[in-house]
Amino acid sequence: MARPKCCRRVAGEPGCEIFKPVGVPVSAIDEVVLSMDEFEAIRLADFDGLYHDKAAEQMKVSRQTFGRIIQAARHKVSQVLVKGLALRIEGGEIKMVQKRTFKCLKCQHTWDVPFGTGRPTECQACKDATICRSEVQRGRRRLGGECQRKSGFSRS
Ligand SMILES: [Zn+2]
Repeated sequence: MARPKCCRRVAGEPGCEIFKPVGVPVSAIDEVVLSMDEFEAIRLADFDGLYHDKAAEQMKVSRQTFGRIIQAARHKVSQVLVKGLALRIEGGEIKMVQKRTFKCLKCQHTWDVPFGTGRPTECQACKDATICRSEVQRGRRRLGGECQRKSGFSRS
C-alpha cells in the first residue's frame, strides 16, 4: 500500500540551502533541486550509514519507497558533481520531526533520535555507555541536563 507523500519524516536540515561551484554565478549554471525527503535519504543512508530498512522506518516510508528516493537523490547528486551544476535543497512533501541529539563522550560520535523513542543506552558507533544529550539550537551547541559525565567533553 502506498503511503501519502506527506508522511515522509525528515529530522535533519541541510547545512546549506544551495551548493554551487566556486567562482561561477548561479545564473550561468543549471540547478538541480534536491527535495528535503531526498536530502533526508542521503543523510540517513550515506551520512549516518543506516541500513535502508532502518532509514525507511525513520522516514515512515516502505523500504521500496526509500530505495526509490535514495536512488533519485544519488542520481541528482552525481549530476551535480559530474557536470558541475548547482544544487538547491528545498521542498518535498515532508513533515519535520522533533528530535534529540546525543553525543558519545568516548568516540565523539553524534546521532539523532526522534522524540518518543526512548533514551538510547549506548553509542551507535562504539557501543560505549557514556553518552550525553547534545542539542544544536540557533547555531550553537548546548549541553542538556542528561549528561552522565561532563569532563572530557570538547566543544569542537
Ligand atoms: Zn562512541
